[in-house]
Amino acid sequence: ASSPSKSYNITLLPGDGIGPEVISVAKNALQLVASIEGFEVAFEEMPMGGAALDAVGVPLPDETLNSAKKSDATLLGAIGGYKWDKNEKHLKPETGLLQLREGLQVFANLRPATVLPQLVDASTLKKEVAEGVDLMVVRELTGGIYFGKPRGFSTDENGQEIGFNTEVYAAYEIERIARIAFETARKRRGKLCSVDKANVLEASMLWRKIVTALASEYPDVELSHMYVDNAAMQLVRNPKQFDTIVTNNIFGDILSDEASMITGSIGMLPSASLGAAGPGLFEPIHGSAPDIAGQDKANPLATMLSAAMLLKYGLGEEKAAQRIEAAVLDTLNRGFRTGDIHSAGHKLVGCKEMGEEVLKSIDSKT
Ligand code: ATP
Ligand code: MG
Repeated sequence: ASSPSKSYNITLLPGDGIGPEVISVAKNALQLVASIEGFEVAFEEMPMGGAALDAVGVPLPDETLNSAKKSDATLLGAIGGYKWDKNEKHLKPETGLLQLREGLQVFANLRPATVLPQLVDASTLKKEVAEGVDLMVVRELTGGIYFGKPRGFSTDENGQEIGFNTEVYAAYEIERIARIAFETARKRRGKLCSVDKANVLEASMLWRKIVTALASEYPDVELSHMYVDNAAMQLVRNPKQFDTIVTNNIFGDILSDEASMITGSIGMLPSASLGAAGPGLFEPIHGSAPDIAGQDKANPLATMLSAAMLLKYGLGEEKAAQRIEAAVLDTLNRGFRTGDIHSAGHKLVGCKEMGEEVLKSIDSKT
């Protein structure tokens, strides 16, 4: 168990729409598992996104970024909504999120896709294929073709309009994402699949070389390589073969969305964004869901599971993380469902009640 003197600062960014509802529930869970495991958590709640735009005129106030930088980890709800959709770029809630990622230098995005036995029917795949899927996509987030130069529009020698982009990866960028992936695989089932297009693209050839060279430092992790076209196919053909997948920015963008659809329940999926040393950023993959905001209908489990990732990957408090994960499963086993995952024979509850049931599950397992 942890020493009782250990104490962490956590920045909470409730944001917009359902964000405040799901953050309030996750905060209670963090508080409870901390007290059980014997460490302290101090929360600092800061404005971000549309809420910050309305309050102080920018989507990411300096005080908010500073709080996130000096805390041990940040938990974000969701940002955005119809109200700000027509704003200029620098006054959009989403710009605040990009600034936050940049400010924290989080270059690794971790997105698990887990098919829970209780929710196997939500999967877009056949039951036999979906059952037992438990994988993690580690995506490079700050480099590659989305940022590479030169880029732009021009005309070619025939006067045809052209658009062009460049995929650039430096060795250090590949090495640091690969390290996070090896370490993630080590905390999971010890299997890492690196996805690239090394038969065609130079950036991928370097990717494969660097990842392969690093493998000797992680003898306990079994490394394999796959071309991205095959990986996209294997994800729907036999997703159970994967444990941890590591890939570049654009392939990861596509494959992590593909993987999330295997689970079929957006209200259940957490994510983590990590840097080399500084604090990580943890958030559900869903958006602010303005259609159900303020109605106590949101599923808080994606945010609770993001809080569990915060404990595991952000603070190294694995036992506390497991307590939340186990309680989420127990609550589902006891039949509680929010609207997005509800089906006949289950108890339909709102966001608050779902949160309270998870707290009861945490309590009952101590
Ligand atoms: P983004 O804001 O990232 O662009 P989006 O607008 O594509 O996301 P969401 O805001 O995630 O999408 O909402 C998509 C749909 O899923 C909506 O109908 C929303 O109500 C539903 N939804 C999203 N998150 C949840 C949740 N936690 N619980 C219940 N329903 C949700
Ligand atoms: Mg949206």
